[in-house]
Amino acid sequence: MRRGSLGGMPTPVVQAAEHTRIAILGAGFGGLGMAIRLLETGRHDFTIFEKAGGFGGTWRDNTYPGCACDIASHLYSFSFEQDPGWSRTYAPQPEILRYLERTAAKHRLDERVRFNTEIVRLDWDDAGRRWTLTAADGSTFTADVVVAAVGGLHVPRVPEIPGLDRFAGPAFHSARWRHDVDLAGRRVAVIGTGASAIQIIPAIAPAVAKLLVFQRTPPWVLPRHDRPVSGWARWAFEKIPGAQRLWRALLYLESEAIALGFTVWPWLLGHWQRQSLSLLARHVRDPALREALTPSYTMGCKRVLLSDDYYPALVRDNVEVSTAPIHEIREHAIATADGVERPVDVIVLATGFRTFNPATEIDIRGHGGRRLADDWAAGPEAYNGLLVAGYPNLFMLMGPNSGLGHNSIVFMLEAQVRYVLACLGLLESGRLPVVEVREEVQRAFNETLRRRFHRTVWEAAGTGARRPCSTWYRDPAGRLSALWPGFSASYWWRLRRAHPRDFVAASTAASRTMGDSHR
Ligand code: NAP
Repeated sequence: MRRGSLGGMPTPVVQAAEHTRIAILGAGFGGLGMAIRLLETGRHDFTIFEKAGGFGGTWRDNTYPGCACDIASHLYSFSFEQDPGWSRTYAPQPEILRYLERTAAKHRLDERVRFNTEIVRLDWDDAGRRWTLTAADGSTFTADVVVAAVGGLHVPRVPEIPGLDRFAGPAFHSARWRHDVDLAGRRVAVIGTGASAIQIIPAIAPAVAKLLVFQRTPPWVLPRHDRPVSGWARWAFEKIPGAQRLWRALLYLESEAIALGFTVWPWLLGHWQRQSLSLLARHVRDPALREALTPSYTMGCKRVLLSDDYYPALVRDNVEVSTAPIHEIREHAIATADGVERPVDVIVLATGFRTFNPATEIDIRGHGGRRLADDWAAGPEAYNGLLVAGYPNLFMLMGPNSGLGHNSIVFMLEAQVRYVLACLGLLESGRLPVVEVREEVQRAFNETLRRRFHRTVWEAAGTGARRPCSTWYRDPAGRLSALWPGFSASYWWRLRRAHPRDFVAASTAASRTMGDSHR
């Protein structure tokens, strides 16, 4: 607040909030990709708002031992910023973080980012056709367009296990790793056996005195074949034009083939299931442990995990797998429902994240003050994975139904970024005053998605040989709102153009500007 004066009396003068044409929320893969493509297309008037103090998103948050990508690095990177120097086929977290930081520095994005600025509320102003962004510290900004690139999985899910708060030793989530806690020679419990846990377990097992793995559901595990990238391959990627693109295309097609099993020919999954069971049999000789580690649901229903060292870690002398449900946590122990109490010094919660729902993180109020939290009370729903009816000029990267279980999410992000650029083109050419998807277009799109899910491995109706599972792919309302139910290529194809007919007509938008909220 600035103070002015009227008739000698000081009067408060409200200072105009800082305006930016495009506000990007988040500086992870999505936010950086959006920013770079804006620059490349000559759009310089944007600001990135980042709640933390650095670039990298999930690759800045997750620093647990063994953290690495489970999609090959030559594919899990921007198509427009390829790095010939990846050290391994599946690069470790510090290398991925360095890649993102280097990419941000190359495009001088530090000049366009506001770190430590968490946007907690968005209000659409129909008359002014702009968003007001409110930060956690109360400061406000305005923007014509908001691109929320806040990531799909970053809010830790801390399980509600009785007694967790009474545990005397360190207990922390995998995404909030306590590097100050020395695990050497201690009794460590890892709760969960998902993508994070299967990387943590082999990494810490050699150092700890005892490792207790609390498994609720066994994952399907396939070999990762992680290895160093040879010097000559790196040379070829750098020196031979097209070599890295060709390698990337092959990796892409190999990953895409898995979608055939998930969405078209479930019988294909039988082949991969046999491969997984033979990996298990090769490493785990004890029949009881092998039985405990054998999944009872169809592969793909939960994320398929890739690891070369998970099963070998579980058969170490100092590792024990417990499958009995956890009854409670005591001051120095974990007690399971079978009446056994196991003493532990440290607990690692590898229990995953709350599934994508920005409405729970940011109070988003769209046309006429409607709240996204209310609109999504029955589960998140969008159009093309990033637009929501009633919320003009708001794009949510990695929004509902744009996740993947089989291929690189960076590919999906790039398709979305290109679609945002196409929508900006419609705004700039004057063909649309605002970009807002029509309700009926969004409804029809989601009905098509629901029909498509019927044929997939994720549909819990699970007929015949398909056995369902509980998965974070399903939202609390039971809808499959996390995944795209098909090939990533079909998503890319769908988003290659933005069609004006999908959006609220100019005349409707104009009547709102005049204060008429009738649609
Ligand atoms: P997750 O896949 O959701 O796994 C959570 C684990 O915790 C599951 O085994 C779950 O068992 C268990 N769990 C949850 N609550 C529990 C409770 N109350 N008691 C006992 N067990 C409990 O989480 P995540 O491993 O962190 O991975 C999440 C996602 O992050 C992945 O799917 C992936 O998309 C991403 N990720 C990617 C990489 C990568 O390399 N790119 C690495 C790590 C994570 P149930 O299965 O029975 O629910």
